[in-house]
Amino acid sequence: MHARALIDLDALRSNVAALRAKAPGAAFMAVVKADAYGHGMIPCARAALEAGATWLGVATPEEALALRAAGVGGRVLCWLLTPGAPWAACIAADVEVTLSSMWALREVSAAAKAAGRTAAVQLKIDAGLGRNGAQPADWPELTAAAREAERAGLIRVTGVWAHFSCADEPGHPSIARELDVFRTALAQAAEAGLDPEVRHIANSPGTLTLPSAHFDLVRPGVAMYGISPVPQVGGPADFGLRPVMTLSARLASVKRVPAGHGVSYGHQYVTPAETTLALVPLGYADGVPRHASSAGPVLVAGKWRTVAGRVAMDQFVVDLDGDLPSPGDEAILFGPGDRGEPSAEDWARACGTIAYEIITRIGPRVPRLYVGTRS
Ligand SMILES: *Cc1c(COP(=O)(O)O)cnc(C)c1O
Repeated sequence: MHARALIDLDALRSNVAALRAKAPGAAFMAVVKADAYGHGMIPCARAALEAGATWLGVATPEEALALRAAGVGGRVLCWLLTPGAPWAACIAADVEVTLSSMWALREVSAAAKAAGRTAAVQLKIDAGLGRNGAQPADWPELTAAAREAERAGLIRVTGVWAHFSCADEPGHPSIARELDVFRTALAQAAEAGLDPEVRHIANSPGTLTLPSAHFDLVRPGVAMYGISPVPQVGGPADFGLRPVMTLSARLASVKRVPAGHGVSYGHQYVTPAETTLALVPLGYADGVPRHASSAGPVLVAGKWRTVAGRVAMDQFVVDLDGDLPSPGDEAILFGPGDRGEPSAEDWARACGTIAYEIITRIGPRVPRLYVGTRS
């Protein structure tokens, strides 16, 4: 294998346990959208359930149905649906869907009626993020109509929830404001006669830094993969977390070159002296950001090196300053740090993005290799 993403399912399970210990009174929804943030949805969903998650959260109904198609159990909630969504398939597969507006309530009710079954749904309030979720002004109408559909046996409202805008900035004034909007929405839902099983708002930062936001259930994503959601507050270890993914590749070439040798497209880098260059067979098609050109850190032959020149589609070069490892030796882009390698957070800083994006964008050409698989 010339490159691989090693996925440590024991680390994932231990992260779930650490997060559950932070929110002991709440149920745990493992967020496994976007192929489990690039880690592989099915193995990660199974490992999270083994570690005590009882819910799985995904964005799209297609992701939810893929979990069921693989035989994954647990409660499954999805939250990004468009008109004409596969409502019937979700009802048949026991996938719970999130409704933010009247059109969605009408569509799921019609599908439930046609199927002769009750659809399990959750209602979402926009507490201030400005994405999905019902506007507070529209909430009384939505909750009243949902209660009517419950009475008609078409739906069952299993949850009411919201999503924070700035939970990753502890103390941000929006946090208290959004909690207020959420509490008011919960009270209004109760007035409408709804009695949801779970009320929830906490993502990873909310789970780790905001106990008052835990309610009945927490929904961590990135922290479960061992990435700190609040790097300005602490790294993974400070929260008892361990990065799950190690991205590495085997050197495809190592060679001596003279001073003044241009490197990669555009010759953005020129060797300052006679040196050795190593070729790492991963590029932007594999999710290595092109923004990492002349910036991304890599561990090669025991030392931190920096991407030399532009990241290309399939490969990039590092200047080894005369070191001479063998072709086939390992270059580690990021991992938990056991061997002194950089972290996904280091890559995020080098590329002007967040670690979420670094792990999630690793492409399908990079095989995932699982350790810690049970059964
Ligand atoms: C992605 C997502 C989460 C998880 O967020 P993290 O910051 O990764 O913990 C939780 N809830 C919703 C609605 C999401 O879209």
